[in-house]
Amino acid sequence: MSGILYAISTPIGNLDDITQRALKTLNSVDYILCEDTRVSSKLLSKFDIKSKLIPYHKFNEKELLHNVINDLENNLNIALISDAGTPCISDPGRVLVNALFDKSIKVVPVCGPCAISTLLSAAPKNNEEFAFVGFIPRNSNEQKELFEKYSNIDTVFYESPNRILKTLQNIKNFRGANAKITMGRELTKIYEEIKYSTVNGLIEHFSERPPKGEFVILLYKAETNSEEDINIDKKIKLLSQKGFSAKDISIIISTLFNMNKNAIYKKLTENKL
Ligand code: SAM
Repeated sequence: MSGILYAISTPIGNLDDITQRALKTLNSVDYILCEDTRVSSKLLSKFDIKSKLIPYHKFNEKELLHNVINDLENNLNIALISDAGTPCISDPGRVLVNALFDKSIKVVPVCGPCAISTLLSAAPKNNEEFAFVGFIPRNSNEQKELFEKYSNIDTVFYESPNRILKTLQNIKNFRGANAKITMGRELTKIYEEIKYSTVNGLIEHFSERPPKGEFVILLYKAETNSEEDINIDKKIKLLSQKGFSAKDISIIISTLFNMNKNAIYKKLTENKL
């Protein structure tokens, strides 16, 4: 029998979000693998946990792998945490979890906060599906490819405050000014902000106050014309074929379907049907 690796979620801001099970497990293990000892020691001291912290991050995870596996095979129990949230979600741990899976060593998840589920639990959404892509690529062409690839599914991604405006601008360029977004900023913290808006609205929002803090973004799938829009377009076309003028059609359709008269007129005159 070997020991167990506990993959433990820790708070993404508000330290009160730590779970009872996380505290018990962190207290009971032989040592804790953490991303940055300075960050995790604050958490441990707040809850008076004395277990030893060992730095484990993307620069040493391959190097330490052998020792960690050895310790587990020698019956030690080990915790894996990251600076914030759930290990392996855009955070270190995947190399270790994969290796343990291959060796049939048990990995037990001790679940809790994660920026993805935190945002999704408070964002408007009319379906269950979403794609999570981690940190969005920095390059505009790669972003364009990603927006095209995921145009049919709501997409969640992480982005830094320095690049968020550029990424919003790219969304506007590739998906249009009316693309819908729910932005989660500083979730669970004092300045938490959750904003459902068009991409244009968000760009305007941030032109007044520069973006600060941590961001997770839900970009809704690209809008297609609804069944109702298609039927109205058909009616407009029919009236046009019967010889009604653009002005008359816009009055008729706007009155019957409670729509904007100018938008219909524009559609007709700019041949957008
Ligand atoms: N493993 C973490 C999780 O479970 O969410 C994510 C780690 S990733 C290195 C860090 C990124 O997650 C941040 O740059 C930000 O995009 C997002 N994030 C983390 N905490 C957040 C918070 N409180 N509010 C909004 N986004 C957050």
